[in-house]
Amino acid sequence: MADGSNALIDVRNVSRHYVRNVDEVHALDDVSLEVPAACFVALMGPSGSGKSTLLNLISGIDRPSEGEVIVAGQPLSTLDEDELATWRARHVGLIFQFFNLIPVLSARENVALPLLLTDLDKAERRRRAETALRVVGLEERFDHFPRTLSGGEQQRVAIARAIVTDPDLIVADEPTGDLDARNAEAILDLLRALKNEFGKTIVMVTHDSRALRYVDEAHHLDKGVLLTGEEAERAAAALLAAAGAHPMPPARSDGSS
Ligand code: ADP
Repeated sequence: MADGSNALIDVRNVSRHYVRNVDEVHALDDVSLEVPAACFVALMGPSGSGKSTLLNLISGIDRPSEGEVIVAGQPLSTLDEDELATWRARHVGLIFQFFNLIPVLSARENVALPLLLTDLDKAERRRRAETALRVVGLEERFDHFPRTLSGGEQQRVAIARAIVTDPDLIVADEPTGDLDARNAEAILDLLRALKNEFGKTIVMVTHDSRALRYVDEAHHLDKGVLLTGEEAERAAAALLAAAGAHPMPPARSDGSS
């Protein structure tokens, strides 16, 4: 990379402040974070700690008050709003807690939606949507509407929609938050496979301590500050203790909870 960093994501001394009434809210305070390419990262921390704010800055949905966000060598601050939207459409796949599927469109049509922003013809958009649905294991569900799919299947459709443009980066905001234990593990497994098999870089906000068994790195935020060293270790240990989980070894899912 031109600046000598190997990171796909380089968050440099980023702060995000909001003005609420007369108060200034420090949603993020001088956060620096590098995420290597083909890495699966969790952002964890209590509610209000700044996780979504950081995710929105990394995905170019929001801009920092101070500092710089560089993704795949592109400093996002140099892009105007239109350029940023184009950049996002090409480089970032978004996954949400509540799937955000369009109810009146089939799985295939939902997945093909981001391709409307490209100059691909309809047949090619359809072919790529079907390929993405096969990747997430839904080859039997092309024509199904969201209401006829389980929560886990709906999240798979949403993941297919996130990968259909072949983005470098996938950002996921609580992707297992609305799923039962078995489906949550299956989604975490799928995200890990997208990293392993397709080299995707994935940044996921989650409260789910099960995620610790699937990710390469977990970063902990508290009151807008990224914890490091012993503080970060204590936060990870507390999460595992609360979940009754064991830090070692990386577990296999037994599907129970
Ligand atoms: P988390 O995702 O960890 O729950 P957020 O990033 O959503 O935390 O929020 C961090 C802090 O910033 C919170 O105090 C929240 O109330 C505040 N905040 C987030 N977005 C806005 C906004 N648009 N306007 C004012 N305050 C905000």
